[in-house]
Amino acid sequence: MKTIQVSIVTPDGPVYEKDVEMVSVKAESGEMGILPGHVATVAPLQISPVRIKTGGTTDYVAVGGGFIEVRPDKITILAPSAEVASHIDIHRANEAKRRAERRLDDKQTHVDFKRAELALKRAVNRLNVANMK
Ligand code: ATP
Repeated sequence: MKTIQVSIVTPDGPVYEKDVEMVSVKAESGEMGILPGHVATVAPLQISPVRIKTGGTTDYVAVGGGFIEVRPDKITILAPSAEVASHIDIHRANEAKRRAERRLDDKQTHVDFKRAELALKRAVNRLNVANMK
């Protein structure tokens, strides 16, 4: 079976590197399914799960946004944060979710709502991906 190399990289270093059969991501413009030989493209990603089909199993990685670069033989995802499902700390994500929800409920004007919204999205995405493993 044909494969495509995928690398997921964060400021802390590489998080995932494998030859795989298919990658599905949520770009800002919508879902993208990428098979070997895909036309070259670059797209911004949502805070979302990346689904990777490899050797009869599916791996899930939570990405905190960033970009995907597709070339016919290689996919690179550059993200501010990324965690493989099995490495997600569920307790930490639940705490982050609670903190963000508290901030969003706060009526004080000093709260940075956009920041809290993004933190909530990251936490919910991590909890979802942790459940997919
Ligand atoms: P927190 O408030 O818990 O730090 P956050 O969304 O602000 O969450 P980020 O700034 O996105 O955290 O990530 C900081 C670093 O911590 C990254 O390396 C990220 O992969 C890691 N990280 C954050 N939350 C988790 C988690 N629940 N499980 C595993 N790693 C995590």
